[in-house]
Amino acid sequence: MILSPLLPPDLPTGLWLGTSNRAATTDSTFEVEDPATGEVLATVADADSADWNAALDAAMTAQQQWAPVTSRRRSEMLSALFSELTRRTEDFARVMTLEMGKPLAEARGEVAYGAEYFRWFAEEAVRIPGRYATAPSGLGQLTVTRTPVGPVLAITPWNFPLAMATRKIAPALAAGCPVIVKPAAETPLTMLLLGEVFAEVFGRFNVPEGLVSIIPTTHAAELSAELMSDPRLRKVTFTGSTPVGRQLVRQSAENLLHTSMELGGNAPFVVAADADLDLAIEGAIFAKMRNGGEACTAANRIYVDQSVANEFTTRLVERIAGYQPGHGLDETTTLGPIITERQLDRIAALVDAAVEAGATVATGGHKIEGAGNFFQPTVLTEVPAGQDILTQEIFGPVVTITTFDGLEEGVTLANDTEFGLAAYGFSSSTQGAAYLSTHLQAGMIGINRAAISDPAAPFGGIGQSGFGREGGIEGIEEYLDVKYIATS
Ligand code: NAD
Repeated sequence: MILSPLLPPDLPTGLWLGTSNRAATTDSTFEVEDPATGEVLATVADADSADWNAALDAAMTAQQQWAPVTSRRRSEMLSALFSELTRRTEDFARVMTLEMGKPLAEARGEVAYGAEYFRWFAEEAVRIPGRYATAPSGLGQLTVTRTPVGPVLAITPWNFPLAMATRKIAPALAAGCPVIVKPAAETPLTMLLLGEVFAEVFGRFNVPEGLVSIIPTTHAAELSAELMSDPRLRKVTFTGSTPVGRQLVRQSAENLLHTSMELGGNAPFVVAADADLDLAIEGAIFAKMRNGGEACTAANRIYVDQSVANEFTTRLVERIAGYQPGHGLDETTTLGPIITERQLDRIAALVDAAVEAGATVATGGHKIEGAGNFFQPTVLTEVPAGQDILTQEIFGPVVTITTFDGLEEGVTLANDTEFGLAAYGFSSSTQGAAYLSTHLQAGMIGINRAAISDPAAPFGGIGQSGFGREGGIEGIEEYLDVKYIATS
């Protein structure tokens, strides 16, 4: 039920199972809050075992009907999803801002980014590779094709409520797989609104019921354990924290499920002595402050050559201190709230511990008193080595600056992490840029560039940041099995 006058009264709050927006079979609901005010925005159906099993039953039927649909038809359907989602940009941006907190301009950006996955995989659906060869022995022919892996469970986080889901749903549908989406309990409304887009487009394309189900629940652990113990499910794709990812990989072993794990990050940002400082500061601002720092690719640790450290730090601090916290619907806001009070307290504890250990607060450093979960935009310098704030994901508008002497030392410090999702390096020389791209260790490297996410590129990490890739020509492979046919 919608409770806030800021939301459209007819926004869906029931489960989306297949082609209809149904209320849950259970009467249970949970509350969705506006993190900027603490106001309850809506109550949403809380799916239980019967619901997610119904979604899997429907997915099995849909699988039979969807896998043989021609790739051209699948592609046209995905293009229609891109158009319909794009047409509704303002509806989605508003809902996302209200439930997640990000400023409206950034929410609009996420709609464009999230929709782009439908367009990209519409283009990839018709290019699923295969090969044919005569056996070297001359004794026959080898044909290699791809088949859809089967029903997919997609578990998504709250920080990008739309894009983290579309980059799973789009390649799965392109490959011919049905998908059960479990959105984060903090931000289910964006996904339920996407159900309206599916309803509109699926109706036009005669898509089988159950191809996509959206099942918000507060019982995520039970849902994943139960569905993953059912051998009909064939894949789990997860974006979220590393501890939950590890648990899902363990659970996936019993039925040998395909898994894709997009997990946490702790991105370093290295500024060489010869970096273009204007470019590096713009890059650092984007890499840190996008989504209020609540991004897995967020630059948490800035390493800057000591020869340019003073100028870089003074200018960056001035820019970060100028961020304007507030409600995301206010167009003057440039920094939204932290998603929950628990996360806010976690960030405050990381900062307090660093300061107690001797770090200097260049700006910010505290929670903002009053309604909502706000933290001041914060820069810390001289953080002692080994502090949790350097080794853990911050997930907020807080950055540390550490100096180094020469690029080799800078890269060594940058690579001192168990994570390996993104890393950024800034240098104006060919040698510096080459050194950074060769030696920084992560799945994604930005050289003199901080905007690295691109639906046409493979997004994903190494080490404790997980495995598997989303987007690019690699993304669809995660939803395909290889099939080899021998003929004489
Ligand atoms: P989270 O791991 O707590 O939750 C992610 C999702 O998993 C949510 O839908 C949640 O309900 C569900 N979940 C929680 N416990 C579960 C369990 N035991 N079994 C099954 N599902 C469970 O993470 P979060 O706090 O929502 O998101 C922040 C994390 O996501 C950060 O670590 C961030 O780096 C990561 N993230 C990674 C990427 C990437 O692509 N690598 C992108 C965005 C966010």
